[in-house]
Amino acid sequence: MFKTIKRIIDWCGGFKKSLFAGFIFSFLSSWAVAAPVAYAGYVIAGVVSDIRSGRAIDPSLWYKSLGLITVMVLARFLFDYLKARCHEKIGYELVARDRLWIGEALKRVSLGYFQINDTGAILNAITTGLATLENMGIRMVDNFIGGYLNFLCILLFLFGIIPQCALIALGGVLVSFVFLLMISKHSRENTKVLSEENERLTRAALEYTRGLPIVKSFGMDGESIKDFKDACRRGREIALKIEWGFIPYNCLHIFALKAASVWMILAVMYAGMSGKLELSMVLIVAFLSMSIFNSVEPIADSAHVLSVINNAFDKMKIFSDAQLLDAEGEDIKPENYGITFNNVEFSYSDAKATEDRKVLKDITFTIPEGSTTAIVGPSGSGKTTICNLVARFYDVTKGEITLGGVDVRRYSLDSLLSNISMVFQNVYLFNDTIRANICFGRENVTEEEMIEAAKKARCHDFIMELPDGYDTVIGEGGGTLSGGQKQRVSIARAILKNAPIIILDESTASIDPENEHLIQGALTDLSKGKTVIIIAHRLATIESADQILVIDDGRVAERGKHEELVKLGGKYANFVKIREMAENWQIA
Ligand code: ADP
Repeated sequence: MFKTIKRIIDWCGGFKKSLFAGFIFSFLSSWAVAAPVAYAGYVIAGVVSDIRSGRAIDPSLWYKSLGLITVMVLARFLFDYLKARCHEKIGYELVARDRLWIGEALKRVSLGYFQINDTGAILNAITTGLATLENMGIRMVDNFIGGYLNFLCILLFLFGIIPQCALIALGGVLVSFVFLLMISKHSRENTKVLSEENERLTRAALEYTRGLPIVKSFGMDGESIKDFKDACRRGREIALKIEWGFIPYNCLHIFALKAASVWMILAVMYAGMSGKLELSMVLIVAFLSMSIFNSVEPIADSAHVLSVINNAFDKMKIFSDAQLLDAEGEDIKPENYGITFNNVEFSYSDAKATEDRKVLKDITFTIPEGSTTAIVGPSGSGKTTICNLVARFYDVTKGEITLGGVDVRRYSLDSLLSNISMVFQNVYLFNDTIRANICFGRENVTEEEMIEAAKKARCHDFIMELPDGYDTVIGEGGGTLSGGQKQRVSIARAILKNAPIIILDESTASIDPENEHLIQGALTDLSKGKTVIIIAHRLATIESADQILVIDDGRVAERGKHEELVKLGGKYANFVKIREMAENWQIA
């Protein structure tokens, strides 16, 4: 528990002052609560004594009591308000800071990071984990520290009146603390399992919803939801296990405090009856005995929730331990937009990959500025990987890639990627308006600029036919558009970005001829005057390239212009024959 409290306080960073100021107001508030209780005891004792001795009750006592109680109630509200002002904002501020930081960090990690850390873990850490910290973090520290501070405040007061009762109260709290430790231990052991089950549930839910079209087409609805149902069942079981473990310890914790209250009352009555304490003090202590543990009782919840918070902090480590690709990167403006690969090796799995796990092996080539390089080769030969390495989605295992003569690892990711536009077939569009998707990453784009880019990308006409034109919201992943339309919107985005380097995947397998024709036109406009790397499939594109790289099994098998490679009579010549047959077949 103490470790987690320290973790929360450390997490507060620049907000620590606000946190501690809140504790002071909490302390003052508890005095404001205790004072009227003590005063009531004092007044009642005075009244009883007046009645017993036949004296008239001093009428000013009512005004004094009313005045004091009103002041104390107002003081309590004021201190509670000030405490809330200090504490309530901290969680929101810190989580907003962390969310922005995580967004920035995820942008700057290698894509390999998302293979090591699965989606369930990342999503849960960002959603449930951060929400727990946001809503519970400060509140639980406040419950815990504020709760014991309130107790301490009344305890000190009791020590001044009747130390025996103070010792009983202290004993009760110490015994109850042992049960709190047990709650904490039980929760610590089980919240870890619960959070793993939640991750499994998120994963299963994602898998289920993503795979629904396939599931339906195979009529396997029952089978596919099995994982999801299992995850729900296990989640329920572990949540119940936590609850059943919590209840007995919580009862014992409350019992220890209630028993101490009873003992305190008995002790103070005994002191009163044996004449060691006057009536007013007996009543004050009796009243305080009933309220002294009010702020300690809810600490059982904190003992449990602090374990959940500790687990949320642990889960955050996947972000704090993430290696940023450009931690040392500088903002560099390249002198030219030529690209070179020098003896590049790459493996997706680990740096010391064996020969057969290497996806790229000793790749060397140069792409001069303003030229077009077509990459061809069988599926799985490494074409996409080459493109991903230029954009530094991953880092090379060996060798180097340079842009303008400078190793891409020396660039900050922002300064590197500001030079590159990528248009791939698996286009992702955001669940936002078409306008926002086209203007993504650019500020102050005029209506004319946006429409010009959309026209060049051959998407203006279909956008104008949509119900709200450029303001139409296109659903998650661009779900309401066809494959070809999505690709053209992404080309418009790239045209607007106007980056000097264009990386394209020409693959048009799933696109109809009408769309293919439009996309080719759009790509031609996008590529004018740029350094272009294109994973090419159409013969027309390949033939017109300044350089063709034939990739086979992770190596550059052949390299040159179309005529040279055809003359070689090797892999490329063979590839051209097959393409010609395929294209003739398509035309026929
Ligand atoms: P191409 O674009 O030529 O079809 P890729 O570059 O996509 O080929 O893939 C090259 C090899 O790397 C293939 O064997 C593929 O299975 C493997 N590969 C691609 N992406 C990953 C990945 N994220 N993790 C592990 N292996 C991958």
